[in-house]
Amino acid sequence: MKRREVLNTAAIASVTAATVASCARTGTSPNVQTGLPNVRWRMATSWPKSLGTFIGAETVSKRVAEMTNGRFKITPFAAGELVPGLQVLDAVQAGTVECGHTSSYYYIGKSPALAFATSVPFGLNAQQQYAWLYQGGGLEAIQKVYTNFNVISFPAGSTGAQMGGWFKREIKSVADLKGLKMRIPGLGGQVMSRLGVNVQVLPGGEIYLALDRGAIDAAEWVGPYDDEKLGLHKAAQFYYYPGWWEPGPTLDILVNLNAWKRLPKEYQEVLKTASAEANLNMLSQYDALNGEALIRLKSAGTKLVPYSQEIMQAAQKISFEIFDENASKDASFKQVYEQWKAFRQNIFSWNRINELSYANFATSTNS
Ligand code: CA
Repeated sequence: MKRREVLNTAAIASVTAATVASCARTGTSPNVQTGLPNVRWRMATSWPKSLGTFIGAETVSKRVAEMTNGRFKITPFAAGELVPGLQVLDAVQAGTVECGHTSSYYYIGKSPALAFATSVPFGLNAQQQYAWLYQGGGLEAIQKVYTNFNVISFPAGSTGAQMGGWFKREIKSVADLKGLKMRIPGLGGQVMSRLGVNVQVLPGGEIYLALDRGAIDAAEWVGPYDDEKLGLHKAAQFYYYPGWWEPGPTLDILVNLNAWKRLPKEYQEVLKTASAEANLNMLSQYDALNGEALIRLKSAGTKLVPYSQEIMQAAQKISFEIFDENASKDASFKQVYEQWKAFRQNIFSWNRINELSYANFATSTNS
């Protein structure tokens, strides 16, 4: 054997030994060439595969595989395939699956502070939400809440500002909301409840049938592109805006902390990067697709209606009452809320000057 070959063999033997030792710790199989193990994870999601929200899960899965040359593979499953759509956190916490893709605000019954991870009524738009999460201490605050569930979370997709839902009849005043049965989750649902609405929480795949059959009178989902896919325009005629309870919802990857700790550092970084890419990818797709879908919906007979100022003002007042009540009852909520509220005030002041003044002028003179 030549000297160079001897050296190479020795180097490979050394890497292999280190890898085998590492893999004995992580329970994964080694890849001799790179020293990095083959890892296979399952991802439970809250979405049907046909919807834009599933894009976030797919982006993470696809990019993780590409960045690790197929060594780290995450397979996303539609809602109901592994666990019901609203039980993703439970499954990740229990370790039934290694990770999930979901909306954190589905779990405000477990911890109300999780609402801020997704979106809260009269909160931040997508750009502001990312600023809060990545640069304003938001992600650290949310991850701290998730440690109580043995979970670590990363933002992995945004729908952008949503629409205000589909109604079978016109809603002109707060009085018109009384007794209305509406699918709306999260704190938005709590606000609607105080406005007299009979609130329902259904996963995406069940909304159309409930609305079409009259089991509910109204339903919100996402925006033109996804709502059209669900066929909601065939079940109700009046499409309200804006979605004041979800001005910029972020979806999250939830990872079981034990599974996270077993990942090599390189794969942890890959997963974080893929999640960040999912934010850009999903938001871009929604922004590009929603305008076209809205034109199709209008030509199919959908009537666009703005919420009345009376409803908006009543909803905003109730929203902040609910925030204050939650803060007085729940230490985690209080901690996140106070930090979030200060950030919101600052960025609203700034965006009123730079973003809003421009948007008001440019979109009103759009031709
Ligand atoms: Ca929604």
